Amino acid sequence: MDTIGITTSTASSAADAAPPTPAEYLARAVDLATENVRNEGGPFGAIIVSADGRVFEGVNRVTANLDPSAHAEVTANRNACQALGTFDLTGAVLYTSCEPCPMCLATSLWARVERVYFAADRNDAADAGFDDAVFYRYFEGTSEDRAIMPVAQEPLPPEQRVAAFTEWTHTSTRTEY
Ligand code: ZN
Repeated sequence: MDTIGITTSTASSAADAAPPTPAEYLARAVDLATENVRNEGGPFGAIIVSADGRVFEGVNRVTANLDPSAHAEVTANRNACQALGTFDLTGAVLYTSCEPCPMCLATSLWARVERVYFAADRNDAADAGFDDAVFYRYFEGTSEDRAIMPVAQEPLPPEQRVAAFTEWTHTSTRTEY
């Protein structure tokens, strides 16, 4: 990943070379985001640094790929997991050009990312016309804030309701995560 201009610990030739600072990784994430705008993408970029210092990038491709989940942070998590052959990024750090939305935070939680740094915040994103602040209110606010997408449990017979979990707990070959 030397092409992105960040010296990783695994690629470092000078033993005494200092690893990039969070501000340096964030500057690169902002550059990725800016370049992505010129490549018909959204203004978001992210970098995952794995526990062993490998660097993976992601940019927002929602409109380009017709994929509402293709946020930069999700894409960086996917790229890191697929390259490393794992769904568990324990010890990794996420650097992102903008405060992660709830989906990206949850993705990073599921990936067991250890820490997150961001540059711009949710209000900066809102100023540029993005819904991050609205979605934060969905999770943090009142039932009125959740009226945009009601979520409700629909009663089913108990056995039917948990049938998939019953199958899961009875499957000895399952992969826990
Ligand atoms: Zn997001």
